[in-house]
Amino acid sequence: MKIYMNGKLVPEKQARVSVFDHGLLYGDGVFEGIRSYNGRVFMLDEHVARLYRSARAIALEIPMTPEGIKRAVLRTCHANKCNNGYVRLVVTRGVGTLGLNPYLCKKPQIIIIAADIQLYPRELYKKGLDIVTVGTMRNQPEALNPSIKSLNYLNNVLAKIEAINAGVMEAIMLNPQGFVSEATGDNLFIIRNGELLTPPTEAGILEGITRNVVMALARDMGITVREKMMSRYDIYTSDEMFLTGTAAEVIPVVRVDRRVIGDGNPGPQTMALLKSFKDFAGSSGTPIHA
Ligand code: PMP
Repeated sequence: MKIYMNGKLVPEKQARVSVFDHGLLYGDGVFEGIRSYNGRVFMLDEHVARLYRSARAIALEIPMTPEGIKRAVLRTCHANKCNNGYVRLVVTRGVGTLGLNPYLCKKPQIIIIAADIQLYPRELYKKGLDIVTVGTMRNQPEALNPSIKSLNYLNNVLAKIEAINAGVMEAIMLNPQGFVSEATGDNLFIIRNGELLTPPTEAGILEGITRNVVMALARDMGITVREKMMSRYDIYTSDEMFLTGTAAEVIPVVRVDRRVIGDGNPGPQTMALLKSFKDFAGSSGTPIHA
């Protein structure tokens, strides 16, 4: 595997970062997870735009233009024949001192890994997920805004630990006000009375790119889409539920905290959206080239 590091494609063994990199010492940095389908990179402009917004929010100046980053992603995919895969684009604060001061880090590191994708087991897309709500609340936006896709994922890791300890694969996190925010690495949707509902960004979520695609596809299909603050009551009593994310795509949820959603099977609108997402993802994107 060839890893992109600061302008060069290097063999995996030579792709090393310093122990003084603040990405490691403090989780100080930003990242994106991006998919390729059929030799094209999906939603590349949107991912790169979000990377720059995350960087701006943490006062990290990416030493490259957005166009340059896009070319680097395409080049890394090409070098690794990553035609149906997963790309991890990372910008760390770079090497600094043992103190926090980010302004002492002179050179952010740009790293791109183009690899295989690890999806949920295939049968779960037909059977649906069993998930729980957990005690770890999503970060308070005034402390660390969930809109920033930062390298510090401990908030999400703690929620994931709770889910796994409860015997399920995924967790729903509530915000400090007790409203539903999102899963540990995915956004959440419900269907109620034929309408598609999802928490607004003010609920304290990462504004998922898959989320936005699914909302647009749903509108094209004539489904009413609304962003709405939701309580646990709303999700327990929903007709259908699903999660969205770059890696997960669209995955149905059939049980939350032992409450059965709908009739316990993935719902028809969820399955229609899953199909329409797959069709769209498989037929759009930026062609991979050297
Ligand atoms: N929420 C969180 C916390 C995430 O990390 C992600 C990405 N894995 C998402 C939502 C989904 O975002 P996207 O559709 O852009 O992958």
